[in-house]
Amino acid sequence: MKVTDHIKNANGKTLFSFEIIPPKKGNSIQQLYNNIDPLMEFNPPFIDVTTSREEYLYIEKDGLLDRKITRMRPGTVGICAAISHKYNVDTVPHVLCGGFTKEETEYLLVDCHYLGIHNVMALRGDAMKHEQYFKACDGGHQFAKELVGQIQNLNKGQYLHDVIEADGKSDFCIGVAGYPEKHLEAPSLKTDLKRLKEKIDAGADYVVTQMFFDNQKYFEFVEAAKAEGINVPIIPGIKPLAVKRHLQLLPQVFKIDLPEDLIDAVETCKNNQQVRQVGVEWAIQQSKELQAAGVPVLHYYSMGKSDNVKAIASELF
Ligand SMILES: Cc1cc2nc3c(=O)[nH]c(=O)nc-3n(C[C@H](O)[C@H](O)[C@H](O)COP(=O)(O)OP(=O)(O)OC[C@H]3O[C@@H](n4cnc5c(N)ncnc54)[C@H](O)[C@@H]3O)c2cc1C
Repeated sequence: MKVTDHIKNANGKTLFSFEIIPPKKGNSIQQLYNNIDPLMEFNPPFIDVTTSREEYLYIEKDGLLDRKITRMRPGTVGICAAISHKYNVDTVPHVLCGGFTKEETEYLLVDCHYLGIHNVMALRGDAMKHEQYFKACDGGHQFAKELVGQIQNLNKGQYLHDVIEADGKSDFCIGVAGYPEKHLEAPSLKTDLKRLKEKIDAGADYVVTQMFFDNQKYFEFVEAAKAEGINVPIIPGIKPLAVKRHLQLLPQVFKIDLPEDLIDAVETCKNNQQVRQVGVEWAIQQSKELQAAGVPVLHYYSMGKSDNVKAIASELF
């Protein structure tokens, strides 16, 4: 079922969902199941599975470094299929512009269609680690909006090369990313919102936000999006802060602000176990306020370990 249908069927009740990251290549899927199992009692109607960009690997050979390109966490679509089958839940594979040609994207979408996956999250992806700016690969998309357009074309039965006669259409529900504190490359929040509107106009059905720690930022973003003519569900993404280093890392990587009260609480912690507890308590307060405001879904970034998301969900669902 589509994410938007789950939201409609909930009749205003806030749903619970979360995002997982595929294990590193060579690791068992069992560790993923071990982290999903404790969250299934909260009845997530869908689970997101991220996709990682390719990266360079340097292998020493005869005293020289040989550069290879690899994906350290492959398997997004396979994991979606495995999870759907094991837990009877809808899954949302993240589909990236970065590192994929349009043809590769088409093959991936065809796989999703055959597997009965009806939702995809369309994302540009970040620049590769050694690059300052995002660059599309030859034959790839530069912006998420173009990827949304390709998925919508498939929904109309239009494949990349129109000599192909298609008698079946896909019916993907498309999610896109939104940034309450603006995307780090955008010159202003207003410009970023216009870009978000372009993704909706290209056919996106709902938005999931970047993490934020101050609900006011989300509420203002939703209002500003409405003023821009964006009328699709905007799902808040919540990340429980987990280690002291997040105080520097999250603002640096995602260009988001952390509230003073949260910083003060984390700074008084003696170890990361205490930080994890502060992160859980903060996320519970955030989630309660968002739930009271009637958000469609509370979507958690679980980052591999689910004990903190379970502690939060236990208070809300
Ligand atoms: C909910 C969520 C899930 C995510 N999942 C993943 C994941 O699984 N894997 C991963 O690698 N990353 C993921 N990301 C990160 C995401 O890929 C990065 O934030 C990326 O830098 C931007 O992606 P986007 O889809 O928002 O890009 P876009 O919507 O293409 O926007 C990127 C930037 O370009 C600007 N822009 C858009 N259109 C134009 C235009 N026509 N001209 C000029 N500027 C323009 C926008 O304002 C923005 O600054 C996720 C982010 C979120 C919020």
